[in-house]
Amino acid sequence: MPDWDVVVVGAGTAGCPLAARLADAGRRVLLLEAGADHPGGFPDVLRDAATMGAAVPGAPQNWDLPVLLADGTPTRVPRGRVVGGSSALYAGSFLRGTPEDFDGWAADGNDLWSYERVLPVFRRLEADRDFGDSPLHGGSGPMPVARPPDAHPLAAAFGAAAAALGFPAEPDKNAGGPPGYGPVPLGVADGVRVNTAMAYLSPRRGRPELTVRGGVLVHRVLVERGRAVGVETDGGVFRAGEVVLSAGAVGSAHLLLRSGIGPAADLRAAGIPVLADLPVGRGCTDHPLVYLPWRPARPLPAAPGALPLHGALHTADLELLPWWVPFGRVMGTDPDDREISVGVGLMRPDSRGRLGLDHAGAPLVEYRYLTEDGDRTRLRSGVRLAVELLRTPPLAGLVAATAGPGDDALADDRALDGWIRAHLTTAVHLSGTARMGPDGDPGAVVDQHLRVRGIDGLRVVDTSVLPRVTSRGPAATAVMLGERAADLMTGT
Ligand SMILES: Cc1cc2nc3c(=O)[nH]c(=O)nc-3n(C[C@H](O)[C@H](O)[C@H](O)COP(=O)(O)OP(=O)(O)OC[C@H]3O[C@@H](n4cnc5c(N)ncnc54)[C@H](O)[C@@H]3O)c2cc1C
Repeated sequence: MPDWDVVVVGAGTAGCPLAARLADAGRRVLLLEAGADHPGGFPDVLRDAATMGAAVPGAPQNWDLPVLLADGTPTRVPRGRVVGGSSALYAGSFLRGTPEDFDGWAADGNDLWSYERVLPVFRRLEADRDFGDSPLHGGSGPMPVARPPDAHPLAAAFGAAAAALGFPAEPDKNAGGPPGYGPVPLGVADGVRVNTAMAYLSPRRGRPELTVRGGVLVHRVLVERGRAVGVETDGGVFRAGEVVLSAGAVGSAHLLLRSGIGPAADLRAAGIPVLADLPVGRGCTDHPLVYLPWRPARPLPAAPGALPLHGALHTADLELLPWWVPFGRVMGTDPDDREISVGVGLMRPDSRGRLGLDHAGAPLVEYRYLTEDGDRTRLRSGVRLAVELLRTPPLAGLVAATAGPGDDALADDRALDGWIRAHLTTAVHLSGTARMGPDGDPGAVVDQHLRVRGIDGLRVVDTSVLPRVTSRGPAATAVMLGERAADLMTGT
């Protein structure tokens, strides 16, 4: 008889709701997390939604991972390393994926994840302060959601410029309607970034079914006779009836590879005995992003609640997200920073990346951004659109100068590609490193019940399993995954 019914690895955005709902269903759950636990309350650096001081290199809550962007350009990306995971240090935009995202997964053979199936889960997980309990929203779930009040003059000018260019208003970005300009739903309540540990673990602390251990680094999954029986950690071995990896799109794929589950040739090359030959790490996706910095013509008014995000413009495959607080101040790295930025993200990229092991056995993501022509074309159009917005009244009257591409670069595709490559970064929305798919799908690592193919008693529940990155940020979708996976595991 194992000590636990389920061991969940990673108390992150998906892991916390999963563990909580399994415990609610009477399962004895052990939730293991490499980062610190904060059962008595979170530090201000994680709570304060106006700043992102935990996402900088060197912060103890940040894995600060090396990655390669396009053409092998190296950079480092943040990921949460704390109970609450990336939801404890994220920017706070709590946008659902679109109906087309989920129906696209269903059309690929994952019918349990259609929009119709996931909508009730999105309703259950939220307490939407603006729309309350209604056909599209929930009023009493654990995650608070609220849109900023329409009071920031720069944001109003950005919205007016979008309207002047013919883009429709989108007052509720979580309603699944046509895209346009509107306020960003935030997972913030009274200025506090509400992470999934606050929302799901805090109310269940002390319950006998749920044990949370922070500061435990899991090394690999223990598999005996084709069945996962527990995990090996730096604090010893924990045995359980079932193992779930919720260690995030990097962590879960890394643990699969370390456990002998992955592309056989890569595992052999790394000296790891092969248990299951599966395409772990292949075909992953994330949103390529460039920032257009600009200086306002007059001193910035304080953003309401000092929050850096207010509204966003979405088109079919682009996100234009203005930040109203200079990054140096958001990150706490430069209090005198005056330059603000519009982020231009490509939300349905065709280019595919891969996650593998480096020579030391650490995970390495190669994004391979912009390898597809269509991605370059669409990101160029996004940058041109952002410049046009900054030149459109009434926003134009508030812009003193932009540090974006000059007119020569804007007029020439090759020159603009060069500017984009020089400024390219990632939205840090990595997905699909162990993606779901039906029998016969050569790219699938898990089935739509999120069970790892060929290994009994092992699932992956986090953004690793998304067939494609959602065309909005994936934080809300990660919470939904945890909730829905608990349903699938308990048969409810
Ligand atoms: C700085 C930043 C800003 C972001 N802003 C937004 C935003 O505004 N909106 C949005 O939608 N998305 C945003 N994202 C992306 C979003 O937060 C993530 O995609 C999502 O939260 C991932 O959820 P997850 O459950 O897959 O993984 P995570 O939440 O990252 O959870 C994984 C957990 O597993 C733990 N873990 C990993 N390996 C091990 C191991 N070996 N042993 C034990 N524990 C382990 C980690 O420490 C972590 O706690 C942001 C991400 C970052 C990093």
